Amino acid sequence: MSNRTTVNIRPRNVLSDMKPYSPGKPIWEVQRELGIEKVIKLASNENPLGPSPLALAAIQDYLSDIHRYPDADTVDLRAAIAKKYQFTSDEVLVTNGADELITLISEAFLEPGDEIVVPSPTFSEYEFGANLMGTHVVEVPLREDYSYDIQDILAAVTAKTKLLYICSPNNPTGTYMKKQDLHQLVDQLPAHVLVIFDGAYSHFVTADDYCDGLELVKAGYPIIVTQTFSKIYGLAGIRVGYGIASPSILQHIRQVKEPFNVNALAQVGAVAAILDDEHVQATRNLNALEREKLYENLQALGIHFTRSMSNFVLIDLGPEAKSIYDKLMCKGIIVRYGAGWNLPNHVRISIGSAEEQEAFLIALREVL
Ligand SMILES: *Cc1c(COP(=O)(O)O)cnc(C)c1O
Repeated sequence: MSNRTTVNIRPRNVLSDMKPYSPGKPIWEVQRELGIEKVIKLASNENPLGPSPLALAAIQDYLSDIHRYPDADTVDLRAAIAKKYQFTSDEVLVTNGADELITLISEAFLEPGDEIVVPSPTFSEYEFGANLMGTHVVEVPLREDYSYDIQDILAAVTAKTKLLYICSPNNPTGTYMKKQDLHQLVDQLPAHVLVIFDGAYSHFVTADDYCDGLELVKAGYPIIVTQTFSKIYGLAGIRVGYGIASPSILQHIRQVKEPFNVNALAQVGAVAAILDDEHVQATRNLNALEREKLYENLQALGIHFTRSMSNFVLIDLGPEAKSIYDKLMCKGIIVRYGAGWNLPNHVRISIGSAEEQEAFLIALREVL
């Protein structure tokens, strides 16, 4: 008689509270489920110009060496990043996307009973990392116009606060924290709070009073600036991100990271991409232009939206938002529905190419 059964196998208790991440629907899934050939994805803030051509060439060059393990210390890539922003290599840590860095930061710094402070709504991975470690998440609502209120943030900080996340420009609102506010905030924070400044969209910002956080690392504040190659560099599929901080902070994160967390193709691709100023500039220009055109078209339709410093725009479609989202999907246009951020009347649309934007607007007019 066998008593084989899997029902007594129990995961950690915290897993019962964890919501799975809901990514933007992939193109192939919509093609398969709805049987439509032409699908446009404006749901994950990817680069409409594609990957950096220099990165593509570097990856192709490297292909015959992929039987070798990658460099565990990502020496060349850390040097390239350090040089670009005038840091030293020991102030840079490279990870398998910025998502991995957020998890590693959580593993290195958080314990049950601790608290993290996050603005709301924001990127869900901060909460994911805290939940994984059994750490309490304290949400600070943004103002009605989705701007940051630093007094509200400071009021939420307690003796238990380990991490404070600032996403600027913030995903999904596109709003940012003004330089003066960021400086005031870090000056007034108690010394035991580590700030995680997520600058995933910093390269898209056109406002003069923006700060990408790097000067605060240079000035010695307890802050980690997180960055990614997934957005402006167009390398989301090969997963590279990095953090810039004092070596005394990064050493703790190095202790929990896997040795070969960044694959070899990602490393050579990113080294090439960070030097590809032409691709970055072209992406930035396209984004600024198409963002402005989108505003004008939405205004003409009488649709409310939040002005964005990023490569996406949060749009208020009212109580019909879910049904409009579904109907756009049926027409082959994938945007991101806001329910996951507690914004059931909103969708977030990534800025695409001129053709993609046009297709979105045609579909939207039909649906409305
Ligand atoms: C896309 C994004 C990231 C980066 O993700 P990767 O894991 O590097 O692809 C980080 N933070 C925010 C807010 C993002 O939107």
